[in-house]
Amino acid sequence: MKELYSNIIGGEFVAVTNASRNINPSDTNDVVGEYAQGSMADVNNAVAAAKASFPAWSHATSQTRFDILKKASDEILSRKDELGRLLAREEGKTLAEGIDEVTRAGQIFAFFAGECLRTGGEALPSVRAGVGVEITREPVGIIGMITPWNFPIAIPAWKIAPALAWGNCIVIKPADLVPGSAWALVDILHRAGLPKGVLNLVMGRGSVVGQALLEHKDVHAISFTGSIATGRKVAAACVAASPMKKIQLEMGGKNPLVVLDDADLATAVEVAINGSFFSTGQRCTASSRLIVQAGIHDRFVAGCIERLKSIVVDDALKQGTHIGPVVDQSQLEQNLKYIQIARDEGGKLAFGGELLKRATPGFYLQPALFTETTNAMRISREEVFGPVANIVRVKDYDEALAVANDSEFGLSSGICTTSLKYATHFKRNSEVGMVMVNVPTAGVDYHVPFGGRKCSSYGSREQGTYAKEHYTTIKTAYTMA
Ligand code: NAD
Repeated sequence: MKELYSNIIGGEFVAVTNASRNINPSDTNDVVGEYAQGSMADVNNAVAAAKASFPAWSHATSQTRFDILKKASDEILSRKDELGRLLAREEGKTLAEGIDEVTRAGQIFAFFAGECLRTGGEALPSVRAGVGVEITREPVGIIGMITPWNFPIAIPAWKIAPALAWGNCIVIKPADLVPGSAWALVDILHRAGLPKGVLNLVMGRGSVVGQALLEHKDVHAISFTGSIATGRKVAAACVAASPMKKIQLEMGGKNPLVVLDDADLATAVEVAINGSFFSTGQRCTASSRLIVQAGIHDRFVAGCIERLKSIVVDDALKQGTHIGPVVDQSQLEQNLKYIQIARDEGGKLAFGGELLKRATPGFYLQPALFTETTNAMRISREEVFGPVANIVRVKDYDEALAVANDSEFGLSSGICTTSLKYATHFKRNSEVGMVMVNVPTAGVDYHVPFGGRKCSSYGSREQGTYAKEHYTTIKTAYTMA
């Protein structure tokens, strides 16, 4: 009998009536645990608990909030090996990547603990004599959070920490594939002294728990990360609700990495392999479109293939593994479908793309690299969300920039070059939210804004001080002395 994890509502572990199994993608015989499947009634109870807690929490002192967030950060960091192992076991990232992600979650809580003490406002004279104006920020209220499976602890952390820092109450629904890390995080926050009801966890299906959050009249704002298709539904439901809900959507990517003739070859290969394939390519910021200038193209392809040959795809928890399995069967099928599509479109599979057998049953896929593709092909236009990347050959920088920008997505982009002129021009003219020069498109800092343009993002940025745009609302007060 596996351990049973319940929803956490009003600070209590709620009796479980329905549960689903959390399976290890490196070994499908390994069940991480049984996790509750919430209902609409659970969401109603969670929102009621958040509502009851809001008056006190929204007026808690900055010192109280600082102490709780700092304590949570300390516990996350002190348990990073154990939590990193849980994360790698439920999601399939390597143990090192799992520990890195947990570390990042701890750092995020430390950063937002500091933000609790940095709330400010403005005082300025009115245009009317004798009147003063104050501009302050207040919490938005009750925030519904819906998160994807690919960052099981970092994404919940970068939504929960700023929401708490600025005095909001929360109901979070993590991805049903990987609820374990979010469960551990909510448990830690309660042990750090968070008052009951401020943060509530309801696990389960998007169509049930997520939908109930979108439709609940007492939820004031939604922070969502996931696919464009679900994001559109979230936006429509939030605008149709009365009152309308504030929304923040972080969605997919088809992130270009430009490699110019003047690039340092070793840097370009490392940046491409890391950005395209590490974390099994399951990052919204993964560089899935490699746009390579003709003069370096063949050397770059040869370098990538050589590097790929040295990469070990195996059990996420095994020492020496560089890339873990794909997260589940349906994601694996999606990757294989796109590999076939790229072949049918005329792309040349230069490396990988085949299923791998390992000691345990899991979703192992050799990273796939396509050459001879164009930007018009589906493999260049649609998000695969796996270890699959394709190379588009271009003649010069101008064509590279045009191809990079020719996408409905606009999350992150990168360029490998030794030219200051091209690097500067690319930073200014790349139509994305995050742009990288000689570093991978994936892998970002925790203290600066994160987000994109076009179909990749909607609403204000996450992370860093900019996160306050979503988690606060502005009040302008006029006083006649
Ligand atoms: P998804 O859209 O399938 O699910 C995301 C979340 O929405 C899950 O918790 C799911 O249960 C929930 N959901 C599903 N249907 C719903 C509904 N009708 N109402 C409310 N909630 C619903 O996405 P996924 O497969 O979990 O994640 C992969 C996607 O996330 C990729 O497109 C990836 O690029 C994107 N992503 C984006 C970022 C970013 O910051 N831009 C970060 C990570 C992942």
